[in-house]
Amino acid sequence: MEHSLATFLLLLILISIEFISSHAIPNQDISYMKFVHNANDQPIQEKYDYIVIGGGTTGCPLATTLSSKFSVLLLERGSDPNTYPFVLNEETLSYVFILEDDGQNPIQRFVSEDGVENIRGRVLGGGSMVNAGFYSRGHREFFETAGVDWEMELVEKAYEWVEETLVSRPNLSAWQVAFRNTLLEGGVVPDNGFDLRHLMGTKTGGSIFDNKGNRHGAVELLNKANPKNLKVVIQATVQRIIFNGLSAVGVLYSDSKGKLHTALIHKKGEILLSAGAIGSPQLLLLSGIGPKSYLSSLKLHVVHHQPHVGQFMTDNPRFSRSIVFPFQLLASSAQVVGTLEKNIHLQSLASPLPFYPLPSYGLLPPQSTSITPSLVVFVGKFSNVSSKGWLHLNNSSTDSKESPIVRFNYYSQHDDLSRCVRGVRKVEDLLKTQTMERFKTQDLEGNKGFQFMGLPMPENLWNDSSVEEYCKNTVATYWHYHGGCLVGKVVDDNYKVIGIKNLRVVDGSTFSDSPGTNPMATLMMLGRYVGLKVLQQRSS
Ligand SMILES: Cc1cc2nc3c(=O)[nH]c(=O)nc-3n(C[C@H](O)[C@H](O)[C@H](O)COP(=O)(O)OP(=O)(O)OC[C@H]3O[C@@H](n4cnc5c(N)ncnc54)[C@H](O)[C@@H]3O)c2cc1C
Repeated sequence: MEHSLATFLLLLILISIEFISSHAIPNQDISYMKFVHNANDQPIQEKYDYIVIGGGTTGCPLATTLSSKFSVLLLERGSDPNTYPFVLNEETLSYVFILEDDGQNPIQRFVSEDGVENIRGRVLGGGSMVNAGFYSRGHREFFETAGVDWEMELVEKAYEWVEETLVSRPNLSAWQVAFRNTLLEGGVVPDNGFDLRHLMGTKTGGSIFDNKGNRHGAVELLNKANPKNLKVVIQATVQRIIFNGLSAVGVLYSDSKGKLHTALIHKKGEILLSAGAIGSPQLLLLSGIGPKSYLSSLKLHVVHHQPHVGQFMTDNPRFSRSIVFPFQLLASSAQVVGTLEKNIHLQSLASPLPFYPLPSYGLLPPQSTSITPSLVVFVGKFSNVSSKGWLHLNNSSTDSKESPIVRFNYYSQHDDLSRCVRGVRKVEDLLKTQTMERFKTQDLEGNKGFQFMGLPMPENLWNDSSVEEYCKNTVATYWHYHGGCLVGKVVDDNYKVIGIKNLRVVDGSTFSDSPGTNPMATLMMLGRYVGLKVLQQRSS
Protein backbone atom coordinates (compact mmCIF):
# COMPACT_ATOMS: atom_id res chain seq x y z
CA MET A 1 0.00 0.00 0.00
CA GLU A 2 2.77 2.44 0.98
CA HIS A 3 4.54 1.70 -2.31
CA SER A 4 1.50 2.19 -4.55
CA LEU A 5 0.67 5.38 -2.67
CA ALA A 6 4.13 6.70 -3.48
CA THR A 7 3.64 5.81 -7.15
CA PHE A 8 0.32 7.69 -7.31
CA LEU A 9 1.86 10.72 -5.64
CA LEU A 10 4.77 10.58 -8.04
CA LEU A 11 2.40 10.62 -11.03
CA LEU A 12 0.55 13.65 -9.72
CA ILE A 13 3.73 15.49 -8.99
CA LEU A 14 5.22 14.69 -12.38
CA ILE A 15 2.14 16.24 -13.98
CA SER A 16 2.58 19.33 -11.80
CA ILE A 17 6.28 19.56 -12.67
CA GLU A 18 5.45 19.33 -16.35
CA PHE A 19 3.00 22.18 -15.80
CA ILE A 20 5.46 24.25 -13.81
CA SER A 21 8.36 23.76 -16.23
CA SER A 22 6.31 24.59 -19.30
CA HIS A 23 4.12 27.40 -17.97
CA ALA A 24 5.80 29.10 -15.04
CA ILE A 25 7.40 32.48 -15.32
CA PRO A 26 10.18 32.51 -12.74
CA ASN A 27 8.96 34.31 -9.64
CA GLN A 28 12.31 34.11 -7.94
CA ASP A 29 14.93 36.82 -8.36
CA ILE A 30 17.66 35.00 -10.26
CA SER A 31 20.02 37.96 -10.84
CA TYR A 32 22.71 35.92 -9.05
CA MET A 33 22.95 33.72 -12.16
CA LYS A 34 25.20 36.42 -13.68
CA PHE A 35 28.05 35.23 -11.49
CA VAL A 36 27.30 31.49 -11.39
CA HIS A 37 29.65 29.34 -13.49
CA ASN A 38 30.06 25.64 -14.14
CA ALA A 39 33.19 23.99 -12.71
CA ASN A 40 33.98 22.47 -16.12
CA ASP A 41 34.76 25.97 -17.43
CA GLN A 42 37.05 26.96 -14.57
CA PRO A 43 40.84 27.35 -14.69
CA ILE A 44 43.05 24.67 -13.17
CA GLN A 45 44.25 27.10 -10.53
CA GLU A 46 43.17 30.49 -9.18
CA LYS A 47 43.41 32.61 -6.02
CA TYR A 48 40.88 34.44 -3.81
CA ASP A 49 40.74 36.19 -0.45
CA TYR A 50 38.08 33.79 0.84
CA ILE A 51 36.88 30.39 -0.29
CA VAL A 52 33.50 29.17 0.98
CA ILE A 53 32.88 25.43 0.61
CA GLY A 54 29.17 24.63 0.21
CA GLY A 55 26.64 27.05 -1.30
CA GLY A 56 23.90 26.05 1.12
CA THR A 57 21.70 27.65 3.77
CA THR A 58 24.67 29.10 5.69
CA GLY A 59 27.23 29.30 2.86
CA CYS A 60 25.18 31.67 0.64
CA PRO A 61 24.73 34.48 3.23
CA LEU A 62 28.34 34.00 4.37
CA ALA A 63 29.84 34.35 0.87
CA THR A 64 27.54 37.30 0.10
CA THR A 65 28.64 39.16 3.23
CA LEU A 66 32.37 38.57 2.66
CA SER A 67 32.06 39.76 -0.96
CA SER A 68 31.22 43.29 0.22
CA LYS A 69 34.96 43.88 0.73
CA PHE A 70 36.95 40.91 -0.57
CA SER A 71 37.18 38.48 -3.46
CA VAL A 72 35.23 35.30 -2.71
CA LEU A 73 34.93 31.92 -4.40
CA LEU A 74 31.83 29.89 -3.42
CA LEU A 75 32.08 26.21 -4.39
CA GLU A 76 28.87 24.14 -4.55
CA ARG A 77 28.71 20.49 -5.61
CA GLY A 78 25.07 20.70 -6.82
CA SER A 79 23.46 22.51 -9.75
CA ASP A 80 21.62 25.80 -9.79
CA PRO A 81 18.04 25.30 -8.54
CA ASN A 82 16.43 26.63 -11.74
CA THR A 83 17.46 23.38 -13.45
CA TYR A 84 14.96 21.60 -11.17
CA PRO A 85 11.77 23.73 -11.15
CA PHE A 86 9.99 21.44 -8.68
CA VAL A 87 12.20 22.77 -5.86
CA LEU A 88 10.94 26.29 -6.55
CA ASN A 89 7.28 25.66 -5.77
CA GLU A 90 5.33 24.68 -2.66
CA GLU A 91 2.85 22.55 -4.65
CA THR A 92 5.62 20.13 -5.63
CA LEU A 93 7.36 20.19 -2.27
CA SER A 94 6.63 16.53 -1.52
CA TYR A 95 8.46 15.41 -4.66
CA VAL A 96 11.77 15.55 -2.77
CA PHE A 97 10.56 12.73 -0.53
CA ILE A 98 10.08 10.27 -3.38
CA LEU A 99 12.61 11.43 -5.96
CA GLU A 100 15.26 8.84 -6.81
CA ASP A 101 18.83 9.96 -6.09
CA ASP A 102 20.56 9.99 -9.49
CA GLY A 103 23.81 11.39 -8.09
CA GLN A 104 23.12 14.86 -9.53
CA ASN A 105 19.64 16.04 -8.64
CA PRO A 106 18.94 18.23 -5.59
CA ILE A 107 18.46 15.31 -3.20
CA GLN A 108 21.16 13.06 -1.82
CA ARG A 109 19.62 10.14 0.02
CA PHE A 110 21.27 8.35 2.91
CA VAL A 111 20.20 5.77 5.45
CA SER A 112 21.74 6.08 8.89
CA GLU A 113 23.11 3.01 10.64
CA ASP A 114 19.93 3.20 12.76
CA GLY A 115 18.04 2.19 9.59
CA VAL A 116 16.29 5.57 9.28
CA GLU A 117 16.02 7.07 5.77
CA ASN A 118 17.16 10.66 5.40
CA ILE A 119 17.96 13.30 2.77
CA ARG A 120 20.45 16.16 2.23
CA GLY A 121 20.28 19.08 -0.17
CA ARG A 122 22.65 18.91 -3.15
CA VAL A 123 21.87 22.16 -4.94
CA LEU A 124 22.85 25.82 -4.79
CA GLY A 125 20.90 27.06 -1.75
CA GLY A 126 21.36 23.68 0.00
CA GLY A 127 18.72 22.45 2.44
CA SER A 128 16.77 25.71 2.10
CA MET A 129 15.83 24.65 -1.47
CA VAL A 130 14.37 21.28 -0.54
CA ASN A 131 12.94 21.85 2.92
CA ALA A 132 9.42 22.60 4.13
CA GLY A 133 10.11 26.34 4.32
CA PHE A 134 9.02 27.00 7.92
CA TYR A 135 10.92 29.98 9.33
CA SER A 136 11.26 30.57 13.06
CA ARG A 137 14.12 32.10 15.05
CA GLY A 138 16.27 30.30 17.63
CA HIS A 139 15.31 30.01 21.31
CA ARG A 140 16.96 31.96 24.11
CA GLU A 141 18.67 28.88 25.63
CA PHE A 142 20.29 28.15 22.28
CA PHE A 143 22.14 31.47 22.45
CA GLU A 144 22.93 30.98 26.14
CA THR A 145 24.43 27.53 25.69
CA ALA A 146 25.98 27.67 22.19
CA GLY A 147 29.43 28.46 23.62
CA VAL A 148 29.63 31.72 21.65
CA ASP A 149 29.89 35.23 23.08
CA TRP A 150 27.08 36.54 20.85
CA GLU A 151 26.70 40.23 20.07
CA MET A 152 22.90 40.11 20.33
CA GLU A 153 22.36 43.38 18.47
CA LEU A 154 24.26 41.95 15.52
CA VAL A 155 22.27 38.71 15.78
CA GLU A 156 19.05 40.74 15.53
CA LYS A 157 20.35 42.68 12.51
CA ALA A 158 21.50 39.48 10.82
CA TYR A 159 18.04 37.88 11.23
CA GLU A 160 16.43 41.05 9.83
CA TRP A 161 18.82 41.06 6.86
CA VAL A 162 17.61 37.57 5.96
CA GLU A 163 13.94 38.27 6.64
CA GLU A 164 13.66 41.45 4.54
CA THR A 165 14.56 39.37 1.46
CA LEU A 166 13.15 35.90 1.98
CA VAL A 167 10.43 35.63 4.58
CA SER A 168 6.65 36.00 4.14
CA ARG A 169 3.76 35.94 6.54
CA PRO A 170 1.75 32.96 5.27
CA ASN A 171 -1.94 33.00 4.41
CA LEU A 172 -3.04 30.05 6.48
CA SER A 173 -4.49 27.18 4.46
CA ALA A 174 -7.83 25.74 5.59
CA TRP A 175 -6.06 22.81 7.25
CA GLN A 176 -3.54 25.03 9.07
CA VAL A 177 -6.43 27.10 10.49
CA ALA A 178 -8.01 23.88 11.77
CA PHE A 179 -4.68 22.68 13.18
CA ARG A 180 -4.13 26.00 14.98
CA ASN A 181 -7.62 25.81 16.49
CA THR A 182 -6.99 22.21 17.55
CA LEU A 183 -3.79 23.22 19.36
CA LEU A 184 -5.47 26.12 21.14
CA GLU A 185 -8.48 24.06 22.12
CA GLY A 186 -6.10 21.34 23.31
CA GLY A 187 -4.41 23.79 25.70
CA VAL A 188 -1.25 24.62 23.72
CA VAL A 189 -1.47 28.25 24.78
CA PRO A 190 -1.06 31.20 24.63
CA ASP A 191 -2.17 32.08 21.13
CA ASN A 192 0.81 34.09 19.86
CA GLY A 193 -0.69 34.93 16.47
CA PHE A 194 2.00 35.45 13.81
CA ASP A 195 5.51 35.73 15.20
CA LEU A 196 9.02 34.96 13.96
CA ARG A 197 10.39 34.59 17.51
CA HIS A 198 10.53 31.31 19.40
CA LEU A 199 7.59 31.24 21.82
CA MET A 200 5.83 28.75 24.05
CA GLY A 201 2.24 28.03 22.97
CA THR A 202 0.78 28.22 19.48
CA LYS A 203 1.96 30.51 16.71
CA THR A 204 2.00 31.00 12.98
CA GLY A 205 5.62 31.14 11.84
CA GLY A 206 7.22 32.77 8.82
CA SER A 207 7.66 31.01 5.52
CA ILE A 208 10.19 31.19 2.72
CA PHE A 209 7.27 30.37 0.39
CA ASP A 210 5.48 33.53 -0.67
CA ASN A 211 1.71 33.63 -0.92
CA LYS A 212 1.85 32.35 -4.50
CA GLY A 213 3.82 29.30 -3.35
CA ASN A 214 7.20 30.42 -4.74
CA ARG A 215 10.20 29.34 -2.68
CA HIS A 216 12.73 32.02 -1.73
CA GLY A 217 15.68 30.02 -0.44
CA ALA A 218 19.15 31.07 0.71
CA VAL A 219 20.26 31.21 -2.93
CA GLU A 220 18.41 34.54 -3.29
CA LEU A 221 20.64 36.07 -0.60
CA LEU A 222 23.37 35.90 -3.26
CA ASN A 223 21.54 38.78 -4.99
CA LYS A 224 22.83 41.03 -2.20
CA ALA A 225 26.46 40.22 -3.03
CA ASN A 226 28.97 42.52 -4.66
CA PRO A 227 28.92 40.90 -8.12
CA LYS A 228 32.44 42.12 -8.87
CA ASN A 229 33.83 40.20 -5.90
CA LEU A 230 31.88 36.94 -5.90
CA LYS A 231 32.27 33.94 -8.18
CA VAL A 232 29.92 31.00 -7.56
CA VAL A 233 31.01 27.72 -9.10
CA ILE A 234 28.47 24.89 -9.31
CA GLN A 235 29.06 21.17 -9.86
CA ALA A 236 32.31 21.77 -7.99
CA THR A 237 32.79 18.96 -5.47
CA VAL A 238 35.48 19.81 -2.95
CA GLN A 239 37.58 16.68 -2.38
CA ARG A 240 39.85 18.05 0.32
CA ILE A 241 41.38 21.10 1.93
CA ILE A 242 45.08 21.74 1.22
CA PHE A 243 47.42 22.56 4.13
CA ASN A 244 50.88 23.97 4.53
CA GLY A 245 51.81 22.62 7.97
CA LEU A 246 48.92 23.62 10.21
CA SER A 247 47.66 26.41 7.92
CA ALA A 248 44.87 25.90 5.39
CA VAL A 249 46.02 27.35 2.06
CA GLY A 250 43.54 26.11 -0.53
CA VAL A 251 41.11 23.46 -1.72
CA LEU A 252 41.06 20.77 -4.36
CA TYR A 253 37.77 20.29 -6.19
CA SER A 254 36.56 18.07 -9.01
CA ASP A 255 34.23 19.09 -11.82
CA SER A 256 31.51 16.90 -13.35
CA LYS A 257 34.04 15.34 -15.75
CA GLY A 258 36.29 14.36 -12.84
CA LYS A 259 38.97 16.96 -13.65
CA LEU A 260 40.69 18.43 -10.59
CA HIS A 261 41.02 22.18 -9.94
CA THR A 262 42.92 24.01 -7.23
CA ALA A 263 41.78 27.21 -5.56
CA LEU A 264 44.18 28.97 -3.20
CA ILE A 265 43.79 31.84 -0.74
CA HIS A 266 45.75 35.09 -0.62
CA LYS A 267 47.76 36.03 2.46
CA LYS A 268 45.37 36.83 5.36
CA GLY A 269 42.64 34.93 3.50
CA GLU A 270 40.56 32.08 4.93
CA ILE A 271 38.67 28.96 3.97
CA LEU A 272 35.16 28.65 5.39
CA LEU A 273 33.62 25.21 5.46
CA SER A 274 29.80 25.31 5.14
CA ALA A 275 29.11 21.86 3.70
CA GLY A 276 26.44 21.02 6.32
CA ALA A 277 26.27 18.60 9.24
CA ILE A 278 27.18 15.61 7.08
CA GLY A 279 29.49 17.31 4.56
CA SER A 280 31.68 19.37 6.92
CA PRO A 281 32.89 16.62 9.29
CA GLN A 282 33.33 14.37 6.25
CA LEU A 283 35.59 16.93 4.52
CA LEU A 284 37.64 17.59 7.67
CA LEU A 285 38.28 13.84 8.02
CA LEU A 286 39.12 13.45 4.32
CA SER A 287 41.54 16.39 4.70
CA GLY A 288 43.40 14.79 7.62
CA ILE A 289 41.78 16.55 10.58
CA GLY A 290 40.29 14.02 12.97
CA PRO A 291 41.20 11.26 15.43
CA LYS A 292 44.79 10.26 14.60
CA SER A 293 44.43 6.50 15.06
CA TYR A 294 41.21 6.42 13.03
CA LEU A 295 42.71 8.42 10.12
CA SER A 296 45.88 6.30 10.20
CA SER A 297 43.81 3.11 10.08
CA LEU A 298 42.37 4.42 6.77
CA LYS A 299 45.89 5.33 5.58
CA LEU A 300 44.94 9.01 5.43
CA HIS A 301 47.67 11.59 6.02
CA VAL A 302 47.13 13.13 9.47
CA VAL A 303 47.37 16.92 9.44
CA HIS A 304 46.11 17.44 12.97
CA HIS A 305 44.85 15.08 15.67
CA GLN A 306 41.34 16.26 16.56
CA PRO A 307 39.38 13.59 18.47
CA HIS A 308 35.93 15.22 18.21
CA VAL A 309 35.50 15.53 14.44
CA GLY A 310 32.45 13.46 13.46
CA GLN A 311 31.37 13.02 17.09
CA PHE A 312 28.13 14.19 18.78
CA MET A 313 26.05 13.64 15.63
CA THR A 314 22.46 14.34 16.58
CA ASP A 315 19.11 14.08 14.84
CA ASN A 316 15.77 15.25 16.16
CA PRO A 317 13.49 12.24 16.08
CA ARG A 318 10.04 12.62 14.57
CA PHE A 319 6.88 10.72 15.26
CA SER A 320 3.88 11.02 12.95
CA ARG A 321 0.15 10.33 13.20
CA SER A 322 -1.32 10.10 9.70
CA ILE A 323 -5.03 10.34 8.93
CA VAL A 324 -6.88 9.99 5.61
CA PHE A 325 -9.74 12.47 5.16
CA PRO A 326 -12.40 11.62 2.56
CA PHE A 327 -12.28 15.06 0.93
CA GLN A 328 -9.74 17.23 -0.81
CA LEU A 329 -7.47 19.63 1.05
CA LEU A 330 -4.95 21.85 -0.70
CA ALA A 331 -1.32 20.81 -0.19
CA SER A 332 0.01 22.71 2.78
CA SER A 333 3.46 22.76 4.34
CA ALA A 334 3.82 23.53 8.03
CA GLN A 335 2.70 27.10 8.81
CA VAL A 336 1.75 26.72 12.46
CA VAL A 337 3.70 25.30 15.39
CA GLY A 338 2.66 24.35 18.89
CA THR A 339 5.38 24.26 21.54
CA LEU A 340 3.86 22.48 24.52
CA GLU A 341 6.86 22.32 26.73
CA LYS A 342 10.43 23.49 26.18
CA ASN A 343 11.45 20.58 24.01
CA ILE A 344 8.28 19.26 22.37
CA HIS A 345 7.00 20.90 19.19
CA LEU A 346 4.01 19.87 17.06
CA GLN A 347 3.39 20.73 13.42
CA SER A 348 1.09 19.37 10.73
CA LEU A 349 1.06 18.98 6.95
CA ALA A 350 -1.67 18.14 4.46
CA SER A 351 -1.61 16.86 0.91
CA PRO A 352 -4.12 15.47 -1.58
CA LEU A 353 -4.05 11.69 -2.00
CA PRO A 354 -5.15 11.11 -5.60
CA PHE A 355 -6.41 7.65 -6.55
CA TYR A 356 -6.45 6.49 -2.93
CA PRO A 357 -9.15 3.83 -2.64
CA LEU A 358 -11.67 5.23 -0.19
CA PRO A 359 -13.46 2.81 2.09
CA SER A 360 -17.24 3.00 2.25
CA TYR A 361 -18.36 5.80 4.53
CA GLY A 362 -21.91 6.10 5.78
CA LEU A 363 -22.32 9.56 4.31
CA LEU A 364 -20.64 8.96 0.97
CA PRO A 365 -21.48 6.72 -1.97
CA PRO A 366 -19.31 3.58 -1.66
CA GLN A 367 -16.02 3.64 -3.63
CA SER A 368 -16.83 7.09 -4.97
CA THR A 369 -14.26 7.90 -7.65
CA SER A 370 -14.96 11.60 -8.00
CA ILE A 371 -13.52 12.49 -4.61
CA THR A 372 -9.83 13.06 -3.99
CA PRO A 373 -9.04 12.19 -0.39
CA SER A 374 -6.31 13.93 1.59
CA LEU A 375 -3.59 12.88 3.93
CA VAL A 376 -3.09 14.89 7.08
CA VAL A 377 -0.04 14.24 9.22
CA PHE A 378 0.56 15.44 12.77
CA VAL A 379 4.31 15.48 13.42
CA GLY A 380 6.16 15.84 16.70
CA LYS A 381 9.74 17.09 17.05
CA PHE A 382 11.79 16.74 20.22
CA SER A 383 14.69 19.13 20.75
CA ASN A 384 17.65 19.28 23.15
CA VAL A 385 18.28 15.66 22.20
CA SER A 386 20.50 13.71 24.61
CA SER A 387 21.12 10.71 22.33
CA LYS A 388 24.31 11.29 20.36
CA GLY A 389 25.98 9.37 17.56
CA TRP A 390 28.95 9.53 15.22
CA LEU A 391 30.04 9.91 11.59
CA HIS A 392 32.70 7.76 9.90
CA LEU A 393 34.08 7.83 6.40
CA ASN A 394 32.93 5.21 3.96
CA ASN A 395 36.02 2.95 4.20
CA SER A 396 35.92 1.93 0.58
CA SER A 397 36.14 5.46 -0.82
CA THR A 398 37.93 8.76 -0.29
CA ASP A 399 35.61 10.46 -2.80
CA SER A 400 33.60 13.15 -1.00
CA LYS A 401 30.62 12.39 -3.30
CA GLU A 402 30.10 9.14 -1.37
CA SER A 403 27.89 9.44 1.70
CA PRO A 404 29.77 8.90 4.93
CA ILE A 405 28.40 6.43 7.50
CA VAL A 406 26.28 8.04 10.22
CA ARG A 407 24.63 6.70 13.36
CA PHE A 408 22.37 8.95 15.45
CA ASN A 409 21.48 6.43 18.19
CA TYR A 410 17.87 7.69 18.32
CA TYR A 411 16.21 7.27 21.73
CA SER A 412 19.30 5.69 23.29
CA GLN A 413 18.82 8.12 26.20
CA HIS A 414 15.68 7.75 28.23
CA ASP A 415 14.77 11.45 28.47
CA ASP A 416 14.37 11.54 24.66
CA LEU A 417 12.01 8.60 24.87
CA SER A 418 9.98 10.24 27.65
CA ARG A 419 9.51 13.33 25.47
CA CYS A 420 8.20 11.14 22.68
CA VAL A 421 5.74 9.49 25.07
CA ARG A 422 4.44 12.89 26.20
CA GLY A 423 4.19 14.11 22.59
CA VAL A 424 2.29 11.00 21.45
CA ARG A 425 -0.19 11.37 24.33
CA LYS A 426 -0.69 15.03 23.50
CA VAL A 427 -1.51 14.29 19.86
CA GLU A 428 -4.05 11.66 20.96
CA ASP A 429 -5.60 14.34 23.22
CA LEU A 430 -5.76 16.79 20.32
CA LEU A 431 -7.67 14.24 18.26
CA LYS A 432 -10.42 14.35 20.90
CA THR A 433 -11.05 18.11 20.57
CA GLN A 434 -14.29 19.53 19.15
CA THR A 435 -12.31 20.97 16.24
CA MET A 436 -11.15 17.50 15.25
CA GLU A 437 -14.56 15.94 15.95
CA ARG A 438 -15.96 17.43 12.75
CA PHE A 439 -13.26 15.71 10.68
CA LYS A 440 -14.37 12.28 11.87
CA THR A 441 -16.19 10.06 9.40
CA GLN A 442 -18.90 7.50 9.95
CA ASP A 443 -18.62 3.90 8.76
CA LEU A 444 -21.56 1.82 7.54
CA GLU A 445 -22.33 0.70 11.11
CA GLY A 446 -22.61 4.34 12.12
CA ASN A 447 -19.37 4.42 14.16
CA LYS A 448 -17.55 7.74 14.00
CA GLY A 449 -13.78 7.84 13.88
CA PHE A 450 -10.63 8.57 11.91
CA GLN A 451 -9.09 6.45 9.21
CA PHE A 452 -5.49 6.20 10.41
CA MET A 453 -2.55 5.13 8.29
CA GLY A 454 0.55 3.45 9.68
CA LEU A 455 1.28 1.40 12.78
CA PRO A 456 -1.69 1.31 15.20
CA MET A 457 -1.28 3.13 18.53
CA PRO A 458 -0.84 0.95 21.62
CA GLU A 459 -4.21 0.25 23.23
CA ASN A 460 -3.19 1.53 26.64
CA LEU A 461 -1.62 4.94 26.15
CA TRP A 462 -0.92 5.15 29.89
CA ASN A 463 1.44 2.20 29.74
CA ASP A 464 4.83 3.93 29.34
CA SER A 465 6.70 0.93 28.01
CA SER A 466 4.22 0.20 25.21
CA VAL A 467 4.24 3.85 24.07
CA GLU A 468 8.05 3.85 24.26
CA GLU A 469 8.07 0.75 22.09
CA TYR A 470 5.74 2.54 19.63
CA CYS A 471 8.15 5.52 19.55
CA LYS A 472 11.13 3.27 18.81
CA ASN A 473 9.28 1.32 16.12
CA THR A 474 8.07 4.41 14.30
CA VAL A 475 11.12 6.67 14.68
CA ALA A 476 11.82 8.86 11.66
CA THR A 477 13.91 11.95 11.03
CA TYR A 478 12.78 15.57 11.34
CA TRP A 479 15.69 16.37 8.93
CA HIS A 480 17.25 18.76 11.46
CA TYR A 481 20.40 16.68 12.01
CA HIS A 482 23.36 18.61 13.40
CA GLY A 483 26.72 18.17 15.14
CA GLY A 484 30.03 16.66 14.04
CA CYS A 485 32.11 19.88 14.43
CA LEU A 486 30.79 21.31 17.71
CA VAL A 487 31.69 24.74 19.08
CA GLY A 488 34.10 24.19 21.98
CA LYS A 489 35.16 20.78 20.66
CA VAL A 490 36.22 21.22 17.02
CA VAL A 491 35.82 24.98 16.51
CA ASP A 492 36.34 27.84 18.96
CA ASP A 493 33.81 30.57 19.73
CA ASN A 494 34.78 32.33 16.48
CA TYR A 495 34.05 29.14 14.52
CA LYS A 496 37.81 28.72 13.84
CA VAL A 497 39.04 25.12 13.69
CA ILE A 498 41.02 24.63 16.90
CA GLY A 499 44.74 24.12 16.19
CA ILE A 500 44.52 25.14 12.52
CA LYS A 501 45.08 28.55 10.90
CA ASN A 502 42.82 30.11 8.23
CA LEU A 503 40.02 27.57 8.54
CA ARG A 504 36.51 27.97 10.01
CA VAL A 505 33.43 25.76 10.00
CA VAL A 506 30.15 27.67 9.79
CA ASP A 507 26.95 25.60 9.48
CA GLY A 508 24.70 23.14 11.32
CA SER A 509 27.63 20.85 12.14
CA THR A 510 28.68 23.32 14.87
CA PHE A 511 25.35 23.07 16.77
CA SER A 512 24.94 20.91 19.86
CA ASP A 513 21.20 21.68 19.84
CA SER A 514 18.82 22.52 17.01
CA PRO A 515 17.82 26.19 17.45
CA GLY A 516 14.13 26.97 18.03
CA THR A 517 11.48 24.79 16.48
CA ASN A 518 13.29 24.77 13.10
CA PRO A 519 16.94 25.60 12.39
CA MET A 520 16.99 27.30 8.96
CA ALA A 521 16.39 30.86 10.27
CA THR A 522 19.32 30.63 12.66
CA LEU A 523 21.59 29.03 10.05
CA MET A 524 21.00 31.85 7.57
CA MET A 525 21.46 34.36 10.40
CA LEU A 526 24.72 32.58 11.35
CA GLY A 527 26.13 32.90 7.81
CA ARG A 528 25.49 36.64 7.86
CA TYR A 529 26.70 37.04 11.47
CA VAL A 530 30.01 35.20 11.04
CA GLY A 531 30.59 37.01 7.73
CA LEU A 532 30.24 40.36 9.52
CA LYS A 533 32.52 39.16 12.34
CA VAL A 534 35.23 38.07 9.88
CA LEU A 535 35.09 41.51 8.25
CA GLN A 536 35.28 43.22 11.67
CA GLN A 537 38.18 41.03 12.82
CA ARG A 538 40.08 41.63 9.60
CA SER A 539 39.69 45.41 9.74
CA SER A 540 40.86 45.54 13.36
C1 LIG B 1 13.11 17.61 3.92
C2 LIG B 1 13.59 18.69 4.84
C3 LIG B 1 12.67 19.55 5.43
C4 LIG B 1 13.11 20.55 6.30
N1 LIG B 1 12.22 21.49 6.74
C5 LIG B 1 12.68 22.57 7.41
C6 LIG B 1 11.81 23.66 7.71
O1 LIG B 1 10.65 23.68 7.33
N2 LIG B 1 12.33 24.69 8.43
C7 LIG B 1 13.62 24.72 8.86
O2 LIG B 1 14.00 25.66 9.55
N3 LIG B 1 14.46 23.71 8.56
C8 LIG B 1 14.04 22.66 7.82
N4 LIG B 1 14.91 21.67 7.46
C9 LIG B 1 16.29 21.73 7.96
C10 LIG B 1 17.16 22.77 7.25
O3 LIG B 1 16.80 22.88 5.90
C11 LIG B 1 18.64 22.36 7.38
O4 LIG B 1 18.94 22.21 8.75
C12 LIG B 1 19.56 23.42 6.79
O5 LIG B 1 19.23 23.66 5.44
C13 LIG B 1 21.02 22.99 6.89
O6 LIG B 1 21.84 24.09 6.52
P1 LIG B 1 23.42 23.96 6.40
O7 LIG B 1 23.93 25.26 5.92
O8 LIG B 1 23.97 23.40 7.66
O9 LIG B 1 23.64 22.84 5.29
P2 LIG B 1 23.08 22.81 3.78
O10 LIG B 1 22.02 23.79 3.55
O11 LIG B 1 22.80 21.38 3.50
O12 LIG B 1 24.35 23.28 2.92
C14 LIG B 1 25.45 22.48 2.67
C15 LIG B 1 25.81 22.68 1.19
O13 LIG B 1 27.11 22.17 0.97
C16 LIG B 1 27.14 21.45 -0.25
N5 LIG B 1 28.24 20.49 -0.14
C17 LIG B 1 28.33 19.43 0.68
N6 LIG B 1 29.50 18.79 0.49
C18 LIG B 1 30.17 19.48 -0.47
C19 LIG B 1 31.42 19.31 -1.11
N7 LIG B 1 32.24 18.29 -0.81
N8 LIG B 1 31.80 20.21 -2.07
C20 LIG B 1 30.98 21.25 -2.40
N9 LIG B 1 29.77 21.44 -1.83
C21 LIG B 1 29.38 20.58 -0.87
C22 LIG B 1 25.75 20.82 -0.32
O14 LIG B 1 25.42 20.46 -1.64
C23 LIG B 1 24.87 21.92 0.25
O15 LIG B 1 24.41 22.80 -0.75
C24 LIG B 1 14.50 20.66 6.61
C25 LIG B 1 15.42 19.82 6.00
C26 LIG B 1 14.98 18.85 5.11
C27 LIG B 1 16.01 17.96 4.45
